[in-house]
Amino acid sequence: MQTIDDLDVAGRRVLVRADFNVPLEDAGDGTRRITDDGRIRAALPTVEALRGRGARVILAAHLGRPKGEAKPELSLAPVAARLSELLGVPVALAADVTGPSAHAVVSALGDGDVALLENVRYDRREDSKDDAERAALAAEYAELADLFVSDGFGVVHRKQASVSDVATLLPHAAGRLVLSEVEVFRKVLQDPDRPYAVILGGSKVSDKLGVITNLLHNVDRLLVGGGMCFTFLAALGKNVGSSLLEADQVETVKGLIADAETRGVELVLPVDVVVATAFSADAEHKVVSVDDIEDGWMGLDIGPNSSALFADRIADARTVVWNGPMGVFEMTPYADGTRAVAEAITRVDGLTVVGGGDSAAAVRLLGIDESGFSHISTGGGASLEFLEGRTLPGIAVLED
Ligand code: ADP
Ligand code: MG
Repeated sequence: MQTIDDLDVAGRRVLVRADFNVPLEDAGDGTRRITDDGRIRAALPTVEALRGRGARVILAAHLGRPKGEAKPELSLAPVAARLSELLGVPVALAADVTGPSAHAVVSALGDGDVALLENVRYDRREDSKDDAERAALAAEYAELADLFVSDGFGVVHRKQASVSDVATLLPHAAGRLVLSEVEVFRKVLQDPDRPYAVILGGSKVSDKLGVITNLLHNVDRLLVGGGMCFTFLAALGKNVGSSLLEADQVETVKGLIADAETRGVELVLPVDVVVATAFSADAEHKVVSVDDIEDGWMGLDIGPNSSALFADRIADARTVVWNGPMGVFEMTPYADGTRAVAEAITRVDGLTVVGGGDSAAAVRLLGIDESGFSHISTGGGASLEFLEGRTLPGIAVLED
């Protein structure tokens, strides 16, 4: 994979696809305010490196789902402003994606300057299913620039004009962020140090079946918590009350349990859970053994003995991948399992990777030191697809 260090960028127009899909709230004065600028910060190493080498940087990104309409509330204006603050230089925002304003803004760039195109999804061809439509937009991007850098890891699994199509038209390279993400996921998929533990949680087994199937060939230990553990417990014949259960997945999960056994993978399930009478922070709740879940109660977190067991099976690992919270961490009474597991991971001496948007959000919400992890992925969906062993369109073109 080519990196930006392989490109001769001085004085050239470099189109950089970034992920600036940040959360926004109304500021109350008619404008919108960014509530978490993590994705903007994650793009800085590439932008700084290119500027430092005299490139004319043209950033492209999407925000939300404007569905082909120029919706003012999904303008990248707040992103341009924040980016400008962080870089300490002006960032010109084009009023359109590839139109007259984009051309004017790009023509005005000097070496080391930075511009941002308007929300690429203002143009409905950006994520069109029609290859010819995407190719037409990609050709317009290619007129604006000499080189292309792919740095939006959060979208690199998408077949979109500014992600995969434009890369086929211009000399291209992976940016710093995409490169670091790809290196980490390659390592955990191909060459993990052992013991290798994968911890899965979150809401649905069906979302993560692909990951489990792909990783079962490779891991030493698979720890399962979160809403998905109840389908595993049901597969073992336990009553799960009104916990989240995907009844149509029980047979599949029985197969996975058998497969883990054949392969010598240690499957670790909760031994106790926090059950509540309703999906609410105020509901009556208590800790019970997984053998004693009664009807009318739902499991919303793993229990303290499970947290201790999980921490023990994490402690001596040399590679840890964590995807999916252990409970409904958004509600304080059900956050302890996620906190315990996250903290156990921070104590590991080895490569520790957090994938999954809600898992990364849990780390921040629970105030766990982010520097305690080797890598927190910026791409929830992209990291999942990587762990499923899929070829991501945006990565595939970078490797051509
Ligand atoms: P990620 O984004 O990290 O991949 P998911 O999207 O799969 O994670 O799942 C996150 C959601 O799972 C959280 O909103 C959390 O509240 C929910 N969750 C975790 N445990 C349970 C549970 N026992 N019952 C219901 N929902 C749960
Ligand atoms: Mg999620």
